[in-house]
Amino acid sequence: MNVEWLFHLPAPVRRRLYFGLQRAVGSRLGEVWREFQSWEGLSSEGLKTRVEARLAETLSGAVQHNAYYRELGLAPRSGEPATEFLRRFPILPRPTVRARFTDLVIDSLRHEITSPQSVARRRYDWLVVKTGGTTGNPTTVVHDARARDWGRATRLFSARQCGHPLGTRYFRLWGSETDLLQTQASLSLRVQAALLGYVPMNAFRSREADLQRHYETMRQHPEIDSLMTYVDAAVILARYIQDRKLRPPPLRTIMACAGTVTAESRAVLQDVFGAEVFDKYGSRECCDVACECRAHQGLHVYSPNVFLEVVDAAGASCVPGQTGRILVTLLNNPTFPLIRYEIGDVGQWAEPGRCGCGLAWPRLQSLQGRADDMLLTEDGTLLSSVFVRHFVGVSLNRQLIREWQLEQTASKRFVFRFIPVQTEGLAANLEIIQKSFRQVLGQSVAIEARQVTELPLSATGKMRWIINSVGQPEAAPPSA
Ligand SMILES: [Zn+2]
Repeated sequence: MNVEWLFHLPAPVRRRLYFGLQRAVGSRLGEVWREFQSWEGLSSEGLKTRVEARLAETLSGAVQHNAYYRELGLAPRSGEPATEFLRRFPILPRPTVRARFTDLVIDSLRHEITSPQSVARRRYDWLVVKTGGTTGNPTTVVHDARARDWGRATRLFSARQCGHPLGTRYFRLWGSETDLLQTQASLSLRVQAALLGYVPMNAFRSREADLQRHYETMRQHPEIDSLMTYVDAAVILARYIQDRKLRPPPLRTIMACAGTVTAESRAVLQDVFGAEVFDKYGSRECCDVACECRAHQGLHVYSPNVFLEVVDAAGASCVPGQTGRILVTLLNNPTFPLIRYEIGDVGQWAEPGRCGCGLAWPRLQSLQGRADDMLLTEDGTLLSSVFVRHFVGVSLNRQLIREWQLEQTASKRFVFRFIPVQTEGLAANLEIIQKSFRQVLGQSVAIEARQVTELPLSATGKMRWIINSVGQPEAAPPSA
């Protein structure tokens, strides 16, 4: 069935149809979205009260109705704030979620949700959700209908924060298997894409022909000036446009997702597309978690749906500016509570205080990427991929090397894959890179330079510049 005509409907009509469709499938998104937005005007005190209430409900629900939490024997002490009760809960790492899957399911549904393969019988009910699985070992969680509605609300909010509120058309450079719009995409997916008004571009592949196709798609839609994208895929596209001296399609806003937005990648996106770049942080299992606002003073945590902590290697709270492991507590998923869930990312809090945009929701200063994107140096220090990427970005001469990837294959072994632009001067350049790497990673490490025609992507199709295949523990402590 051709649903293309939906895409051409005016924004207010598509907005109404989108909410209408949600209602028709049994979602309460309309009400949830209104409630979500009601948190925006809260003062710091008002926010504290609401967070406290929702967190208290989440924690007491879990210890009463979920076997895993009941076994912990935890109960709130009289007069104890929920934020303090929370800190008595153990950190929930991914292997525990895998091992205790059914015990994490609420009592009333344990007969129905018996394994990660379970499927709900009713429409718009609970749903088993797989994590991206960049580590090759996906974890599954369950989202109930309430969590799905709140998850949708987080995405509506992100789109609005990033300059393309529901109804505004945008490009979507994305590559996850299930989201990927192919001719085989289900009717409901195609209807949703048309109503949301996005033009899909496949970020799975970034070969030259694909990049040229993305570029042409963008040129064919001069009326669209927003892009939602994997940050790395957009940077590759921007460099392609730059290197070939093509006329860049002007954009107003870019929502940069699924990766670390470095100063370097932000600069190249701003330069090439002339766009304002918004760093958005989220995951499949936690939905959208935080996003930059127009003030660009860090990423506001989505308080209506998540409570975030940043803790050090020993589990103690980090102070603003101190890098630590991010723990997420979902506030709207009683069917499968994720409490102090170690999502695998590291980041740091911004200095407290109200943001220039007026929103009281707390802010993360920055995210330093995934713990498994960290490299281990000679002396055992975990090195942030942001630092390495900045370092390489500065040292590399882009006239000679177009794309690269650094993989740690053993404690002192690395493979540097690269796609050259030209061979003249390449050897000398590689020499400099080798020397630079050893300065950072240790003089005793071996770095094999390997010329390739294509860089391997992750299982979910993401481009990864830094890969650590050494098999560090999943909950690797971050570098301080
Ligand atoms: Zn703000």
